[in-house]
Amino acid sequence: KAKEGGRNRIVFFNTPMNEEITERMTIEKHLRNALDNNEFELHYQPQLDIKRNAISGFEALLRWKNPELGSVPPMKFIGIAEATHLIIPIGEWVLREACRFLCKLEKAGYNGFNIAVNISMLQLLQDDFAHMVMDIIDSFGLNPKQIELEITESILMESYEVIAGKLKLLRARGINIALDDFGKGYSSLNYLKNLPITTLKVDKSFIDTISNTGNDKSLTDLIVKIGRSMDLCVVAEGVETQEQMDYLIKHKCHKIQGYLVGKPMQEADITKKIEEQNKIAFQEVSNL
Ligand code: C2E
Ligand code: MG
Ligand code: MG
Ligand code: MG
Repeated sequence: KAKEGGRNRIVFFNTPMNEEITERMTIEKHLRNALDNNEFELHYQPQLDIKRNAISGFEALLRWKNPELGSVPPMKFIGIAEATHLIIPIGEWVLREACRFLCKLEKAGYNGFNIAVNISMLQLLQDDFAHMVMDIIDSFGLNPKQIELEITESILMESYEVIAGKLKLLRARGINIALDDFGKGYSSLNYLKNLPITTLKVDKSFIDTISNTGNDKSLTDLIVKIGRSMDLCVVAEGVETQEQMDYLIKHKCHKIQGYLVGKPMQEADITKKIEEQNKIAFQEVSNL
């Protein structure tokens, strides 16, 4: 039987690497039709403004449910969407969908909330990126101040000048710019100094160090201090425990995002979440 394939037979080894390639190809195949087939949805994760003890906005997080593959997490498909440039139409869809939702909230009387949208480097590198963003925001009649674009440091490694120019254009229109996952990977303070960043999102890995087991929290504290000293809004990512929250409040972080405040949720659950938080804040004030 071993002879069947002959000499020039190509042998595929069933190694984990091979499985990974096959999985990537399968994901890519389905990803190509995902937009047309309406397989995407946004979930929204609340951000708690500590000073007001109220929800101030949400991060839009992409969810993909394919009939064959089931739910595929962003970690598994965003990279592939970038490699295939599919992230460009998908990212545009994300922004439009997030703006549509924000517009709906406004019309329902929930005013002044912010929406943060994750942006890929490839999107930023598109010539018409700034126009595309402004057109979508204008088409829903939203205030650009309500929109925050989240970029990661990896974006900034390439084409720094081009990207800086576009960000400045968007910032001049009032759009907020967040530096996501700050502290993970290469954190250059030059970015913070020279780019029109308005928000610093402290990476979850730093929040994780806040626990009573004598971990070194000083770096987390320092990042919050750096952000504040540069007049940035400091948002803590991945806050899961009350202890972490207490530490972050004590060290003057502005906003909290994480499972403790709320998991990413469907659009339909958002207004309930806003009301719930308002009730908690009201009770706390009444008890004073
Ligand atoms: P990110 O932008 O840093 O988003 C935060 C991630 O942390 C989300 O994962 C969120 O569900 C998760 N998270 C939030 N709070 C907690 C917590 O308390 N504990 C834990 N363990 N996790 C928490 P998700 O939704 O799986 O997204 C992963 C990444 O995929 C995002 O990281 C972002 O880089 C990327 N992504 C998601 N949606 C989009 C999108 O629309 N466009 C682009 N370009 N990237 C996106
Ligand atoms: Mg993000
Ligand atoms: Mg993040
Ligand atoms: Mg992250």
